[in-house]
Amino acid sequence: MTRRLLLATRNTKKLNELRRILDAALGKSAVELVGLDDVPSYPATRETGLTFAENALAKARDGARYTGLPTVADDSGLAVDALSGMPGVFSARWAGRHDDDEANLRLLLAQLADVPDEHLGAAFVCAAAVVFPADPATGEAGWEHVLEERMRGRLTRQPRGEGGFGYDPIFVAEGHTRTNAELTPEEKDAISHRGKAFRALASVLAERLQ
Ligand code: IMP
Repeated sequence: MTRRLLLATRNTKKLNELRRILDAALGKSAVELVGLDDVPSYPATRETGLTFAENALAKARDGARYTGLPTVADDSGLAVDALSGMPGVFSARWAGRHDDDEANLRLLLAQLADVPDEHLGAAFVCAAAVVFPADPATGEAGWEHVLEERMRGRLTRQPRGEGGFGYDPIFVAEGHTRTNAELTPEEKDAISHRGKAFRALASVLAERLQ
């Protein structure tokens, strides 16, 4: 039987990445992946956690509670060594407004202007969570799982490339010379924090959905 699984993200580019990664890992026939546009709308989750895992779980718990569907969510961001791990959970709103990628990237580059090249190390981090709703009929409690993965690399001084989103144009992954925004979607998925986290989550999910 095909199970419906909600991907609880309002970021379309992230939604596309999640669909691509989960479709490849779970097989298209096993689950029907639905987005927030396919379910009755509910209030946006407040991202008040101080860790990626707390925020990912909060988004997945809200999805499961409001829609009754098993729900997958992520929380992700860029942790810069020279900024003690910031922007971190504040990556999407670093310049003050939510999801203004260009302003976030420009502010970060300005903050790092005096930092020497050898201290431009950083990592993208992704927490992936899944929450199954509680079953009122049987009283069975909801089930949840969360895990975290990262991609190490270095920041560049100038943005390069048109692909990806967010801070991709200023991030070069370890062992690479092109920025994430210069990689193909498949190349990015193979090494990315989100790719690794959701492939790991897919194996947990596949077992649970059997
Ligand atoms: P979230 O939607 O609250 O998880 O915020 C994620 C933010 O982190 C995005 O808005 C980007 O600024 C940044 N981010 C997370 N993953 C990536 C990525 O794969 N590439 C570039 N930026 C990312």
